[in-house]
Amino acid sequence: MPLLPRRFERLQKVLSNRMGDLTVLLEDVEKPHNLSAILRSCDAVGVLEANAVVNKRRPITFNNTAQGSQKWVILNDHKSIKTAVINLKEKGFFLYGTTLTEDSKDYRDCDFTRSTAFVLGAEKWGLTKTAQSLIDEKICIPMRGMVQSLNVSVAAATLLFEALRQRQKAGLLPKNGAGLEEDIYKKILFEWAYPDVAEWCNQEGRAYPVLNQQGEIIERLPRTKKLRY
Ligand code: SAM
Repeated sequence: MPLLPRRFERLQKVLSNRMGDLTVLLEDVEKPHNLSAILRSCDAVGVLEANAVVNKRRPITFNNTAQGSQKWVILNDHKSIKTAVINLKEKGFFLYGTTLTEDSKDYRDCDFTRSTAFVLGAEKWGLTKTAQSLIDEKICIPMRGMVQSLNVSVAAATLLFEALRQRQKAGLLPKNGAGLEEDIYKKILFEWAYPDVAEWCNQEGRAYPVLNQQGEIIERLPRTKKLRY
């Protein structure tokens, strides 16, 4: 099926708004509906990549709550919270750990305009002691009701949209793909536009074909495989 010009324009527009410097790190968040809802919020806000440390006995799965957002937000699966934190710190992220302790700062008093990672904990237990010792600052969304905590996906959405609000107010939202390096932009645009061809290229170890202005593949590709393009 050919890629329609309108569809290609939409892919370009959404990718142009993506931010490589805003992310979440999920520690043992396992329930498919929570993971799905968090990825959906990431997509809505314009997060390029999310991160997770997953209990290997329960592989990552999504449900309808995601509405397909797992196709549009890259999910990096880390071996441990320690390696995940090191990886994000090396990339320059400031890590805000969400905890419901008394020494947590009100999220409205924090600066999310710099490279920001929100570290969110498991549904039942919250962040582990290890995670708490690795983060840069503890934050919370103040609660006024009888129940002590929010659902993790609600907490994630609240924080992500606050980051979006702050960046919008500061005139820092990327336009025209400015939030991404050019080669990353091109790579992801191709993968979004032609997932089957991208998978085939990766299997074959070959570079992605060049696209013209209309998003068409100009190179002739073998027709032996069922490549949808
Ligand atoms: N008993 C757990 C605790 O004390 O952390 C509750 C875990 S809560 C249901 C799951 C996750 O949601 C938390 O680890 C945190 O990431 C996030 N969360 C829930 N309520 C929050 C709040 N008010 N402020 C910040 N994060 C919150």
